[in-house]
Amino acid sequence: MDVFINDFLRFIHKDDEIEKAIVYNRDGQVLFSIRNGTANEVEFDKDEFDQMKGTILVHSHVDNGDLTDKLLSGADMDTAAEYQLHLVIAVTKHSVSAFSPGSLLPGNHNKRDEFIEEYEQLFENGKASLEKINNEIEKTEIITKLAKEMSDYLKETEKRFGHKYYEWGVFE
Ligand SMILES: [Zn+2]
Repeated sequence: MDVFINDFLRFIHKDDEIEKAIVYNRDGQVLFSIRNGTANEVEFDKDEFDQMKGTILVHSHVDNGDLTDKLLSGADMDTAAEYQLHLVIAVTKHSVSAFSPGSLLPGNHNKRDEFIEEYEQLFENGKASLEKINNEIEKTEIITKLAKEMSDYLKETEKRFGHKYYEWGVFE
């Protein structure tokens, strides 16, 4: 996994204001890369999605004072399940986290919807509590606490949903 992350870290810059992505095959070869995402997402066309089965998608999150500063988004994990990726990795300024959909695949919609719904709910609750706060220090503390809760959730539900979740430490 380090190989992909180290390669990707050479492709991004910590002050990037847009997301970037590289899709690798399991042998570590680059299939394609995206340099022109937005502040919130990287878009793929149909041809790119068609190549994604079994691959490793590494992408960056922009540091924008949101929960995605430290975490994978529900959309990241849903995409991984939908296109049967081996792994989706989010590289943020603060951490690296990875999700493997495992048995959360397209034929398993009930489980997948339940999982994404629960995760999005945590995300929305987190966002709602962040919106009430104007103090930046307090905000950072709350983001850290929420990110921890959500990573715990992703770890604790591995057996229930059949996915795998990995997390690496803080960069700074
Ligand atoms: Zn993402």
